[in-house]
Amino acid sequence: MEPDAMRVRLHLRRVRVVGVLVDLMERLVVEIADVRRVVRCPHCGFNTTRVHDRRRLVIRDLPTGGRPTTLEWVRRRFSCAECSERHWEDHPEIILGRRTHVTRRLARQLVRDVNIMSIREVTRRHDLPWHFIMGLTRSWSERVAADRRRRRRRVLLVDETSLRRGHRYVTVVINGDIGETLAIVPHRNSRALNTFLVAQGHRWLKGVRVVVSDGSVPYRSSIQQHLGHATHLLDRFRVARWFAAGMIEVRRRIQRIGPHGSRPAFDPQVFRSRYLQLTRFDQLPADRIEALGKVLAGRPELEAAWRMLQHLYGIHLATDSDQANQALGTFLEVYADHPLIEFEKLTGTLLEWGDEIFASHDTDRATNGRIEGTNNKLGVLKRIAYGFTNASNFAHRALLLTPGMATSP
Ligand SMILES: [Zn+2]
Repeated sequence: MEPDAMRVRLHLRRVRVVGVLVDLMERLVVEIADVRRVVRCPHCGFNTTRVHDRRRLVIRDLPTGGRPTTLEWVRRRFSCAECSERHWEDHPEIILGRRTHVTRRLARQLVRDVNIMSIREVTRRHDLPWHFIMGLTRSWSERVAADRRRRRRRVLLVDETSLRRGHRYVTVVINGDIGETLAIVPHRNSRALNTFLVAQGHRWLKGVRVVVSDGSVPYRSSIQQHLGHATHLLDRFRVARWFAAGMIEVRRRIQRIGPHGSRPAFDPQVFRSRYLQLTRFDQLPADRIEALGKVLAGRPELEAAWRMLQHLYGIHLATDSDQANQALGTFLEVYADHPLIEFEKLTGTLLEWGDEIFASHDTDRATNGRIEGTNNKLGVLKRIAYGFTNASNFAHRALLLTPGMATSP
């Protein structure tokens, strides 16, 4: 053994440095062994010390002081004195793949990197095969997911997202209390959601008190079938978009001046204030209210649409269902006086989803609006990976992503 050998400190538990094989500026290779002398036979449970033979395995580790580091593990095969069966030893700090082997701490670093860059970039950075990184991500995420799904969940969020813009949809199920992803299932139909819910089992489903969905009909049928006991409500952002849709359409109709091709095509005053028109009244500063007043004055349809939108917002702002009903009533009064065609569809939707919209007043407000947050993270992931073609690869990476990443494999 070289005199320098013992200076290498790996800080790996149960690992003994046998010697330093290569000690160059650009590379460090260390021979290691397990410190244990006695191991338990997995076949009969008796202790044994009899080594049948040894084999060297190359284990990739984190860089040591910036130097790429490889460990050569002298792995022993024991032969049991009691039952005479043979077995290869395992090590808690080493993850064995089919061809590539890494230390557990390197695996942790790889999974951390997978969250912020594409698999190909991780492959390049660590000089490891693509399939190894993806396989590691997959098995790690399966473990994380299994652990998350075992625990009872009080609030579920159900949403859909696409792998690429507008292509290949998947159903995302989120733990609404902290925003972590529980499952990502291919497709966005009731069968997709049923698959997840059935697999969770009756006892687990019983623990769910609140389900927040995006207002899709297939999800609703699945929720009614399996979570009929829970309160079903709609994601507030989705409902707010429904509310705003009528206003936007009225504005588009009104802003058009004259026939096609005329200049200017749009009434600039109406067009420029389009975001102002969608803002909640209680969030408008005084000077903005004045500016908005000028736009609405002399445009009765636009003003009616704006008032309707504000009453719709009132449904969400209400502190109880009485107040919400009042806001809905006032909305319907304005609508009766100004039956704008653009709000017709919305009134139908309000009737159809009234229960789920009003249910938010009977539940903890804090459970609302987390779908958006998780969706943002999934959007970032899609950009990192330049879109996904494989739903299961996306699912595995998304599971690791939210919210606090896995800390132990
Ligand atoms: Zn044995």
